[in-house]
Amino acid sequence: MLPRYEEMLERAYELLPSERSKHERFEVPAPLCSVFGSKTVLHNFMEICRALNRDPLHFLRFLSKEMAAAGTIDGARAIFQGRFDEETFKRLLDRYIRDFVICPVCKRPDTRIVKEKRLHFMICEACGARSPVRSV
Ligand SMILES: [Zn+2]
Repeated sequence: MLPRYEEMLERAYELLPSERSKHERFEVPAPLCSVFGSKTVLHNFMEICRALNRDPLHFLRFLSKEMAAAGTIDGARAIFQGRFDEETFKRLLDRYIRDFVICPVCKRPDTRIVKEKRLHFMICEACGARSPVRSV
């Protein structure tokens, strides 16, 4: 007996990558940090910026502001004044991804940030949406 059309269609859809697996391809490394005296070193800062595809200075400014701590880039690392743990960085990284990386329309991470006059917009390469983002 031949398979019914609906069944064939269902099978075809199963072969397509699902939305979920598309998101899983967007992998950002977990923040690795250590405290030295009164400073905190975020060891994989640059690696995270590369995965986010964002300007390191933008991400640094965001972290500094959210943690109310001065931050500097040191090679591949970032150094912050004050003591912070990995949970703090993880929470802020999630917020950064939500606010500055994921397109609010199609929920994909293929975006870039452009500055026009004094406003910032997130342009989505996947769906073409143009969404305002707050400045950091
Ligand atoms: Zn989009």
